[in-house]
Formats: sequence, C-alpha cells, structure tokens
Amino acid sequence: MALLGRAPSGPSVQGRPADLDRPVPGRPDASRTSMGGVPVRWHLTGITGKCVHPGFAEGRVCRPGEPADGSAVLVASSLSPAQVPDLFDCAAMVLEAGGITSHAAITARELGIPALVDAAGATRQLEPGDHLFVDTERCRVLKAVPDEGCPFCTAELPELDGGPLLRVVEDMFPVVRSHLLLVPRDHLTDPSELLSAHWSELGGLVARLRGRLTAETGSADLNLAMNVGAAAGQTIEHLHWHILPRRPGDDEDPRGGLRRLVGRPWRPYPAPR
Ligand SMILES: [Zn+2]
Repeated sequence: MALLGRAPSGPSVQGRPADLDRPVPGRPDASRTSMGGVPVRWHLTGITGKCVHPGFAEGRVCRPGEPADGSAVLVASSLSPAQVPDLFDCAAMVLEAGGITSHAAITARELGIPALVDAAGATRQLEPGDHLFVDTERCRVLKAVPDEGCPFCTAELPELDGGPLLRVVEDMFPVVRSHLLLVPRDHLTDPSELLSAHWSELGGLVARLRGRLTAETGSADLNLAMNVGAAAGQTIEHLHWHILPRRPGDDEDPRGGLRRLVGRPWRPYPAPR
C-alpha cells in the first residue's frame, strides 16, 4: 500500500525543504525555531491517523467555514461535499472520520494536499490558533508550543559549589533534605557527550560534598544517580546527577538503595523460581 506512511521523493513537498523527505529522528527540521519572535519547539500531540495523501505541511488550525490563508490546516470531524471549497486555501487536512477510499481521501488526492483521516480526537485536541505540523510520513500531528528554554541554562540557580565543568545547585523539588544536583555547565543531553574530565570533576565534587555532609550531619552517605531517557524518568533534557544525602534511620530498611526505590512500585524483573 504505497500511499500509506510514505512521503513522495523529490526536491520538495508542499513547499517543505528537501531534507524533510528523508527520515528525521522524532521531530521535523524546525525542532527549535521561533514564530513571531517567540521561541517554540515541536510537541507531539498524540493525534495520529491514516495517510491518504502524502506530504508535509505547517499551518494554523482552520475549522470548516473559517477563512483559510493558504497555509491553514483544516481540522474537522468529516468532510462534506459542501466543504470542499474550504480546502482550496488549505495546506493540509486532518479528519476524524474517513478511510483511504473515502470522499475526503479522494478529494485530498485530487487537490494534492497532505491528509490524515481516522484521526481520533483531532477536533477536541487541536484548537483554533494552534500551529501544526502535519507529518504524513509518520502519520502524526505535531504542535508548536512556547519554548521556555532549558531551566538549567536559563534560570538563575544559586551555585553551591562547582568546578570548571560542573556546578552544584539545589534541586527545585527536593525529595530529601539537601537534595542537590550536579549539572554540566554546558547544555549536554547525552551521556556520550561527557568527557573523562567531567567524571573526574564529579568524583572530586562528591568527595568534597561528603566531607561537608559529615561535618554538618555526621553522615556522608548518599545516593548518586542520573535519570537517562524518558522511560527512566528524565524530565529535563540537560544531563544532571541527583545527590540525595541519606541519614541513618531515614528509611527503616535502606538495604538495596536505588534498587529498592525502583523495585517498590515497579517489578518487571522475573521473580526467582
Ligand atoms: Zn541546558
């Protein structure tokens, strides 16, 4: 079924740059850009559908009967024959109903506009004013949302300690007293970007912190961990280690440490036979 999930090859599709014809990892090329001077990033809406005419398009949500400006994305529950003229000024179409042989699909192919049908929840989740990116190659819809930036790069967090490559700051949402973060000064997002110097500096900073903890609380014990990837709980893209100072008696049975923290609510590992 050549039409499903494939973008046509060629120098450009619906005015998009040619590099969008190649697979892109997770986001369109405009993964970080600005609109009207406002920084934005692309956010997966969760809206997916069936591709009935391939291509890429970007534009504002337009509902049936509303004026389109040539780059609008028509978002509707279905397409009646009376609404076909609305499509003339649309760059793409996302419908909740329809299939590959539906009237809407045939119309999209006749007019040559990228279209997704069978996109459940589209009219509820995609609102007028939303700026969309319709990606028929992956049969999904992305939305531009304000990019407030990386909190570690933009927020003024008091620096408690640090070195040339790393700094120590307080966690904004501590789970234990003196919950700290060790954050690379550069916006690093993958552990492979860490240099041996980062690891060396990490060791020195942790040793210094343990000395201070011993002086202040009598215990140098701590959990040191990094969440890598969304499935592991990472919510801020900028790499960081958590330092969780621990005190005797703060947990009735601390044996296992992080293994136990994970194991309590989530036990995917098969039980011993
Ligand atoms: Zn950052």
